[in-house]
Amino acid sequence: MEMSNKPKICVISKSFGQYCREALEILKTFSEVEVKSVKEYKEIVDIVKNFDGIIVGNEKINREVINNAVRLKIIARHGVGIDNIDIEAATEKGIVVTYTPQANSDSVAEYAIALILNIMRMIPKLHNLTINGGWNRILGYELMGKTVGIIGFGGIGRRVAKKLGGFDVKILVYDPYVKEDDIRKIGAIPSKLDELLKTSDIVTLHVALTPETKHLINREKLKLMKSTAYLINTSRGAVIDEKALYEALKKKWIAGAALDVFEEEPINPKNPLLTLDNIIVTPHNANFTLEALQRTDLMNAEDLRRFFNGQRPIYVANPQVYVK
Ligand code: NAD
Repeated sequence: MEMSNKPKICVISKSFGQYCREALEILKTFSEVEVKSVKEYKEIVDIVKNFDGIIVGNEKINREVINNAVRLKIIARHGVGIDNIDIEAATEKGIVVTYTPQANSDSVAEYAIALILNIMRMIPKLHNLTINGGWNRILGYELMGKTVGIIGFGGIGRRVAKKLGGFDVKILVYDPYVKEDDIRKIGAIPSKLDELLKTSDIVTLHVALTPETKHLINREKLKLMKSTAYLINTSRGAVIDEKALYEALKKKWIAGAALDVFEEEPINPKNPLLTLDNIIVTPHNANFTLEALQRTDLMNAEDLRRFFNGQRPIYVANPQVYVK
């Protein structure tokens, strides 16, 4: 029997290749590809033992997984948030981690704005009322003239600022790692965190989840916000202390929240947030557009092709792996 010398790549990401056959075709030109649907974490520990490369979504790739990955050389993250991968463990073993920066930034930015407009006019609630035979109206608020506070001014945050350009809003930005000039260039105003929280009518979160941003929005910060303000989260659930948010919404410290991400995903049906009527919740859906998926698939496939052709991938999340 002829043995193939091609590298073996396993796709465990649920969306890779689903909407872009071309990406799978690219992989097949230089590798043997297996697509596996994974239900439990421990299946991943077994799968990784037999592959040279994996394409992952939000699945947990921790130190245990990486220690079992005896022949693994590259992890391609189908998406941007890489907090599910133990980068340090991967780097120690010389495993390259690639990701797809900016591939879904426009989709997430559009979604954040959709959530802002939806929560200010309560459109999902009106839809449900009307579908169920009601004809009640709900008093809403215009976005025009309001102050939008953007926390995190990376790929997504700056697109939100740019896309809000036509809405006649004042935009405040808090991001200690971005030059103030870069913020001003887009027509926004650099701000300190507390100042932004005290003065914004809408606060939208666009930071990566790091030890520093975990529970960045806690009880104390929620108390700073206006009682008429809305909080939008399309970043990561744990950027907000959910228990504190529940209290803030229940006691009307703030007017409402629109959340695409949660501390536990899928959201626990018993999560008390689900009992509130001043929220909109969606299932981590902000990035899920045809265009974003196609861009993401192609970035993963092209970087894997570069890697197995002996070139350096373009979108490396742990460049330190290349430092000898
Ligand atoms: P990015 O890395 O381009 O930008 C993140 C920004 O956060 C950077 O500018 C950084 O300086 C800033 N930042 C870091 N620490 C901060 C702090 N303590 N306070 C304020 N700002 C801080 O990432 P991005 O592409 O804009 O994405 C942002 C996050 O959105 C991702 O990390 C991911 O978790 C999330 N995301 C969610 C979805 C979804 O479907 N809901 C899709 C894509 C990304």
